[in-house]
Amino acid sequence: MATPKVIIVTGANRGIGLAICKRILTTQPSISPLKLFAASRAGVDLGLQSNHATRSVIYPKLDISDKKSVRDFAEEVSQYGSVDVLINNAGINLDNEYNYENAKKTMDVNYYAMIDMCQTFIPLLSTHGRIVNLSSVASSLHPYPESTRAKFRDPTNNLETLSDMADAFLASVKSSSEQSAGFGPPNRSYSVSKSLLNAATAVLARQTPGLVINACCPGWVATDMGVLVGAKPPKTPEQGASVPLNLAFGELGGVTGRYWANSSIRGKGE
Ligand code: NDP
Repeated sequence: MATPKVIIVTGANRGIGLAICKRILTTQPSISPLKLFAASRAGVDLGLQSNHATRSVIYPKLDISDKKSVRDFAEEVSQYGSVDVLINNAGINLDNEYNYENAKKTMDVNYYAMIDMCQTFIPLLSTHGRIVNLSSVASSLHPYPESTRAKFRDPTNNLETLSDMADAFLASVKSSSEQSAGFGPPNRSYSVSKSLLNAATAVLARQTPGLVINACCPGWVATDMGVLVGAKPPKTPEQGASVPLNLAFGELGGVTGRYWANSSIRGKGE
């Protein structure tokens, strides 16, 4: 029997992550045999229906901000062969209660944990494996001064220089000096974490030729997070799944390291 395609979705228990899993099972019948890891912090059985005996769903426990949890999960996955697609969907937005502790949590999950997931799974990816990082239109570089935009776009960036920026941002939150430190108005830890995620996506893609690593905004989607921004997000979670699914399975013409919005490529944080 052929080796199963191994696909991982983080934060699969609700919102866009759950919709991505459902759509993989219902609209991607050609991916067979398949092992779908629908990972969540609680490791709950989500009752997803796989309509074919060669397509199975596994419900691992995974807290992406807990390094041991990530290592244990990687060990579990490695027993099934190489990974074809990692969809880094899990994320948080705590900016409705903006303070240093919440900014740090946001950076830990949306930036550091995402990078840890990428670095842990890159060695396990198949030759043309793909990673999709869920970013956001909030990652736009427009609110930053030109000097900071240049830092985000710097083609010589590496993960160390980006982590220095993350640390500098958190220090500015602690001292209430975000604007003078070059990070734009306050209350934007979610946005800064996603701008850094886009820049790190470009770095990781540059470091791993052959792999396809991109970031995207799913659009404004009616999920627990989506309604924080306003009452009526226009997209359903199923519609929000379309952009990440295209980056996971679509024909991308070899494009890697970019931020995509609504299936069109944008520059580094445009
Ligand atoms: P939700 O708030 O609905 O769901 C977030 C998911 O992430 C939950 O499953 C949550 O798990 C999980 N999660 C959070 N922290 C962790 C962690 N440490 N480890 C593992 N899982 C974790 O968000 P959405 O579905 O709306 O968002 C999904 C992604 O899309 C996010 O990265 C978000 O930034 C991005 N996005 C969403 C937009 C929207 O309009 N909705 C717009 C732009 C981007 P739990 O249930 O345990 O908390």
